[in-house]
Amino acid sequence: MADWFVCLTFDHDNVSSFISRELTTPTMMSRGDFGIVATQRILKLLADEKLPTTWFIPGHTIESYPSCVQAVHAAGHEIGNHGWTHRVPSTLGREGEEEELVRGNEAIRKLTGKNPVGYRSPAWDLSPHSVELLLKHGFTYDSSMMGHDYVPYQARDKDVATLLEPMKFGPDTKLVEMPISWSLDDHPHFEFMRMQHTIMQGLQNAANVFDNFINEFLYMKRHYEWGILTYTFHPHVVGRGQRMWELERLIRTLRDEGAKFITMEQGVAEYRRKFPAGVTLRGY
Ligand SMILES: [Zn+2]
Repeated sequence: MADWFVCLTFDHDNVSSFISRELTTPTMMSRGDFGIVATQRILKLLADEKLPTTWFIPGHTIESYPSCVQAVHAAGHEIGNHGWTHRVPSTLGREGEEEELVRGNEAIRKLTGKNPVGYRSPAWDLSPHSVELLLKHGFTYDSSMMGHDYVPYQARDKDVATLLEPMKFGPDTKLVEMPISWSLDDHPHFEFMRMQHTIMQGLQNAANVFDNFINEFLYMKRHYEWGILTYTFHPHVVGRGQRMWELERLIRTLRDEGAKFITMEQGVAEYRRKFPAGVTLRGY
């Protein structure tokens, strides 16, 4: 029997992602605040549909919006580490990156009483130290890489990538990678951002974007007997009415097509059951 799993994941950045880009004016803060309104809508939808999901929450959000994150935890959703400040790991140096992991875990422990098993890097750019640090701090999985779309795999460490030499692939590690993609993330499609030297256009037609999201599942269903597909949403982005409308459509369509909705932690367990020796992306 086929197993098509879907992980709905929510990166609960609120104001932290604006502050990490040095955008701290009142209007920018209000854009993050909207994540609170949005979270109430999303939690209601998930409760109505009885869906377990995974939330990656920066420590900054946990400590700034305690009742909002308590509601997420109380509803039974998995909570993963998303740094404390939402700064990108590849910009922090090893020590700074480790401080983020530790402080983020402390905030999550205060909320849930236990360490998270999963990590997702802010803005999806791991550093050369990330895999080693995640293993050192007891994480089971990461969700920041893009080497597959439907099948988790073992994260490699210490690749050597140089311009004039072939790749030297590092060894697989015990860290499970739950892969993601910008094409399955609401943020680049929808969030309009005007920064000093850049404009992120966003503001795409919600129905078109969610048609793409649905087709991604249908392709998996046609060509794979087993797979885990991960979608990434941000409450302050997906929570607008026109997008919530489409999120409801996505959930109902995928369920009708046979999707089983699980948390990422459950996804890792399914992966290990299916592939006891692990999946490697070395030696293609
Ligand atoms: Zn984020």
